[in-house]
Amino acid sequence: MKNEKIFVTKSSMPDYEEYIEAIKPLWDTHWLTNMGQYHQELEQKLKEYLGVRELSLMVNGHMALELTIQAMGFPEGAEVITTPFTFISTTHAIVRNRLKPVFCDVKPEDGTIDETKIEELITEHTVAIVPVHVYGNVCNVEEIQRIADKYSLKVIYDAAHAFGVSYKGKKIGNFGDASIFSFHATKVFNTIEGGAAVFSDHRIYETLFNLKNFGIRGEEMVTEVGANAKMNEFCAIMGLCNLKHVEGAIACRKDLCEEYDRQLRNVPGIKMFETKPEVERNYGYYPILIEKDYPLSRDELYEKLKEQGIHTRKYFYPLTSDQACFKNKYRSVSLGCARELAKKVLVLPVYDKMEAKTLTYVIESIRSNS
Ligand SMILES: *Cc1c(COP(=O)(O)O)cnc(C)c1O
Repeated sequence: MKNEKIFVTKSSMPDYEEYIEAIKPLWDTHWLTNMGQYHQELEQKLKEYLGVRELSLMVNGHMALELTIQAMGFPEGAEVITTPFTFISTTHAIVRNRLKPVFCDVKPEDGTIDETKIEELITEHTVAIVPVHVYGNVCNVEEIQRIADKYSLKVIYDAAHAFGVSYKGKKIGNFGDASIFSFHATKVFNTIEGGAAVFSDHRIYETLFNLKNFGIRGEEMVTEVGANAKMNEFCAIMGLCNLKHVEGAIACRKDLCEEYDRQLRNVPGIKMFETKPEVERNYGYYPILIEKDYPLSRDELYEKLKEQGIHTRKYFYPLTSDQACFKNKYRSVSLGCARELAKKVLVLPVYDKMEAKTLTYVIESIRSNS
């Protein structure tokens, strides 16, 4: 296995013939984008799969988040409480809307925003909370909603990692005012590049429809300063194909994650995040925490695995609040726990059809140090 490169993920793809067959009609219609037949079909299918009433398909998850925040119409300079323990996109989407991110610490047990520290960050300028279901770990949605209701704040979840996740029998996209998903090639479900916004208020659908197509309302009428964030038909068809296999992909990931659990649970110095009871998971990621009693530091283990051809990722290090473009610019409570997690976390390879021998090789490489 030594000469083979193992990456943290490998994009799910349908069989070649399945996709080729599915895109053939495009050579008849020559309709390649602009909310075509497959765009519409995928929106419908995703609504069913995600168990939501309203969904807008987008070119990627980032634009879904950026435009959903824009659609809420917050005043410039308003404050948004969010987590720094996430992919940079979450923070960019807030700042690119000319809003101020206010960073809240996260919880050690699952890396989601620490709901007990949200209220102290609220000011007269606060308009929204943007939490992240990081690794598909479900935020404390009940408490976040209670706070939002008390202070009349919007809640927009970055659910980029949470495709297919349910909590207490409720599909994850039904919490808060809106959620966004990413269908990037590296995610549990992909459309090559893609994403979607889901929300409760139908008026948002109209707004997002305009924002993702330049604000064009009619042949001679533009009413909003929109962007271009439409998903094209090739991507929509990739989504329709992958959606047929996503249950199988999640089942495969589940087996792999459970084997990691069994084999790594008792290794001194390796810890895992906790999953809330009543969560139906998607097994999108397998993060571990490298504690002091492991013989190597997280960075040393990362390097050692890399030498052995195993490319893990330090998701999420550094915190977004520590990146050059944001450092020392915004208010935050102490981010002690987020900083600690960012120092200890390592995401191990897990993907659909990952071979048993690859899994064993990764496990052995980690165990052999202890
Ligand atoms: C992947 C991701 C995004 C952005 O999605 P894209 O489809 O890559 O634009 C946003 N937030 C988080 C947490 C992500 O992991």
